[in-house]
Amino acid sequence: MNVSKIREDFPVLNQLVHGKHPLVYLDNAASTHHPNSVLSAMDSCYRTSYANVHRGIHDLSERATELFETARLKVAAFVGVEDTGEIVFTSGTTASINVVARSWCEANLRADDEILLTVLEHHSNIVPWQQAAKRVGARVIFAPVRDDGSFDLKAWTDLISPRTRLAGIAAVSNVLGYALPIREMVSAAKSYGVVTMLDAAQSVPHEPTNFKSLDVDFAAFSAHKMLGPSGIGVLYGRRELLEAMPPFLGGGSMINRVTTDGFTPGELPAKFEAGTPPIVEAIGLGTAIDYLVGIGLPEIARHEQRLAGRARSLLQEIPGLKFLSTHAETPTGIISFHFPRLAAQDVAILLDRKGIAVRAGHHCAMPLHDRFHIPASLRASFYLYNTEAEVELLAERLCEVVEKLSA
Ligand code: PMP
Repeated sequence: MNVSKIREDFPVLNQLVHGKHPLVYLDNAASTHHPNSVLSAMDSCYRTSYANVHRGIHDLSERATELFETARLKVAAFVGVEDTGEIVFTSGTTASINVVARSWCEANLRADDEILLTVLEHHSNIVPWQQAAKRVGARVIFAPVRDDGSFDLKAWTDLISPRTRLAGIAAVSNVLGYALPIREMVSAAKSYGVVTMLDAAQSVPHEPTNFKSLDVDFAAFSAHKMLGPSGIGVLYGRRELLEAMPPFLGGGSMINRVTTDGFTPGELPAKFEAGTPPIVEAIGLGTAIDYLVGIGLPEIARHEQRLAGRARSLLQEIPGLKFLSTHAETPTGIISFHFPRLAAQDVAILLDRKGIAVRAGHHCAMPLHDRFHIPASLRASFYLYNTEAEVELLAERLCEVVEKLSA
């Protein structure tokens, strides 16, 4: 992988921040940047081929529809799905999970049922289930992580019972930065007839993914974490489940027929795509996928793991630094750490003044931070355009910041 050449494709990376420091962007788990190809595809659609999709019989609308549906085909192929009816465009991971928490739960969740989560989930794979459970008097239960941050598969499996109806699982923790044993979890869930919802926001952008071979029932991810625009994400759902679910949002495009007495829902995926969809964003996502495939997901995963490994070995030398997870069995490009005597926000602010963008806070994983009895942590997350030199700069600057704050 030629990282310097890749960096030439990302205009935003080539800039000084605070007027003097080259930007070192290490907040990729929050959102990623866009290569020229994505920017041009979106720009060109607006300039030459934009119209509403699926409705018009005029040339522009037909071209826009073709581009939009081609993007869906690319998404489907990217995650190992053949049936494009199973690929629903939403506004992002959060929206995708909410569709399931509304629609599937409305049809299937009853009082005293249980939804099994893990304590490391992002709030978007917690709150929608809490809301769904509250509506019917069901319960949300959480599997723990160990003191070293590792995931306890046995504890998770032991929590499955005949009451469990659905398991929400992060493919990769956006804080602890490792992949969960999804195959084992899905297989255990299946043996109890438990439906699985995979939050793939941190896996699909970084490693080859095949939802069919993982055998999950639902999965969600967002374009803005994989070089695409914000405002679009994907819900994958098994056809028979999506077909049996009532549509969540009602409106145009999602119907077959509407009368003054009621409506009949449209076919998949339109049934879950009420209103005008994110048209140009879908085209941007399709182009981002082309770019990622062109570089190669296995190479990207290896590159990120190498950077994270290097970061871990440099950062562990910094006095007072504690990693949230020392578990390195299935590492990714995310590392999180904290300083018991320093406020994470202070550290991040001083790093930013030196040009280094990291994330400080709870990273939308408050239950996980509660589990470690800390209010916040720092997170550095790498992507294909980050370099070893940037990792070294992070370590150097972090040393300076910690020295200054500890003085
Ligand atoms: N799940 C995980 C694991 C995430 O990292 C994120 C984004 N931080 C989300 C869900 C939510 O994604 P979005 O904000 O794009 O809906």
